Amino acid sequence: MSSTTPFAARLERVHEAMGLAHVDVVLLSLGADLPWLTGYTAMPLERLTMLVVPAPAAGQPTLLVPALEAPRVEPVPEVFSVRPWGEVEDPVAMVAALVRGCGTSSPVIAISDRAWSVFLLRLQAELPGASWRPASTVTAPLRAIKDRAEVESLAKAAAAADRVAAALLGGDISLVGRTERQVSGEITGRLLGEGNEKANFAIVASGPNSASPHHEPSGRTIQRGEPVVCDFGGSLGGYCSDITRTVFTGAPSRELAKIYGVVAEAQAAGVLSAQVGQLCSGVDRAARRVITGAGYGEFFVHRTGHGIGIEEHEDPYLVEGNSTPVTAGHVFSVEPGIYVPGRFGVRIEDIVAATPQGPRPLNLADHVLTVVEA
Ligand code: ZN
Ligand code: ZN
Ligand code: ZN
Repeated sequence: MSSTTPFAARLERVHEAMGLAHVDVVLLSLGADLPWLTGYTAMPLERLTMLVVPAPAAGQPTLLVPALEAPRVEPVPEVFSVRPWGEVEDPVAMVAALVRGCGTSSPVIAISDRAWSVFLLRLQAELPGASWRPASTVTAPLRAIKDRAEVESLAKAAAAADRVAAALLGGDISLVGRTERQVSGEITGRLLGEGNEKANFAIVASGPNSASPHHEPSGRTIQRGEPVVCDFGGSLGGYCSDITRTVFTGAPSRELAKIYGVVAEAQAAGVLSAQVGQLCSGVDRAARRVITGAGYGEFFVHRTGHGIGIEEHEDPYLVEGNSTPVTAGHVFSVEPGIYVPGRFGVRIEDIVAATPQGPRPLNLADHVLTVVEA
């Protein structure tokens, strides 16, 4: 039997993980777990959408979906059956009944991290014997390991982001005299023009604003002789991109040029260290060591990277304390930075896939210090 969708194989992995974690039922609502397992994305509405996944012995998953949204569901009969509910039915009671049908009065239930409390609180009242945990305890390690098609989707998304980065590095996106918000708008438009179905974010942080890693693009006009940190990403075919390049609107000072070199070296060291079997914390250390060695350790104020997939930020996180080994199929950002408050910041970010042959950067846009004359 051959399957054209990846969902049956994913359900099998979920079942296996449920067994290992002693979870009786998984309930998926809002968030990325549901589209990962079914191809269907729930709308964030007051009407409940919920996939009930019992242990395999207790039957097939059921997708409860508001009747008016049922036409949007692409059936995957080998994975779930669809149960549309009408306007006068009570979907929470229906979920509770399906859970009771699994046969234990004290089930362990893993529910979407982003399920709304208005539903969770009612389910807790309906199922007083149940104990609860976040669905990510089951799904996050599974979603972190991408299959071949997912890695190729992420590579396509990265290539689209690279084309926008190339326009930035090539001086095709003018900076001086425009506001951060205008430049952010142009990057957003270019992301859509490159085939993304969504532009997820476009940080443009100029001059002293570049010292704020998640700066909100403002009405500040970009001046000559400044660093401009541009960090942007979209979704293409359901998978995210995320890239950062720092360009200069005029030759940087010696100090700033040196800092750029340190960040570039740290980024390369992080990528090189991301071999299968290395710890996630080890990748963070490899990048951090370069920055600390250059005397800027206190100015590298965030983790080195995050996993990426259907969501911009997901497991695995490259951070001190994460002893998860880098595994083939992990895809994550490597994005060290140096931020000197009130003065300037520099960050370089690429997405990297871990493979048995070594780390494979999915972003290929240049890292060379670039002065944009415009
Ligand atoms: Zn970020
Ligand atoms: Zn980013
Ligand atoms: Zn990132």
